[in-house]
Amino acid sequence: MRAWTIFTLLLAVAGLFMLVTSGFAKDEMMTDEMKQIKVYSVEKGDYVMTDRVAKSEEEWKQQLAQPEYEPMAYKILRKQGTEPAFSGRYAKHKEHGVYRCAACGQDLYHSDHKYESGSGWPSYYQPVAPENVATRTDRSFFMVRNELICSRCESHLGHVFDDGPPPTGQRHCINSASLIFHPLKKK
Ligand SMILES: [Zn+2]
Repeated sequence: MRAWTIFTLLLAVAGLFMLVTSGFAKDEMMTDEMKQIKVYSVEKGDYVMTDRVAKSEEEWKQQLAQPEYEPMAYKILRKQGTEPAFSGRYAKHKEHGVYRCAACGQDLYHSDHKYESGSGWPSYYQPVAPENVATRTDRSFFMVRNELICSRCESHLGHVFDDGPPPTGQRHCINSASLIFHPLKKK
């Protein structure tokens, strides 16, 4: 009788142990999956897996204070700021290439999808791929707007409105300071 009780107890402990360790393994797997995202690469012409970028506010502050960034880069990218209309370097920019996230370098917009909206901010009717940008609800300034963020580093880009041209009808209104232009050769 006593041996039987010990055996049952051992079985219960072993079962509990397996349950706990499998739970940990699953957690680790989920974290790994969540660390990587599938995004479109213009240069590769295909989807790629890339690591998410997560930094502390202090790290962002230091990075974005470097001379290669626009003076308002930190305020815009990390604090949802907006540059004054017609002040940004890409408002009237017309070269052929890809506009990347100024904070992490991810491809965001292609010059083929840029158009003159008259708003004073670079405007695109679509991103390079839906996976490369994400939206967040922004309730600041007594308005409800759809904020656009980089899907890789979650930095603020601008807002999306539904008064854009065909074929999407969308207007991605983006701060120049959130972008870095990379020229491409015309094919
Ligand atoms: Zn980014």
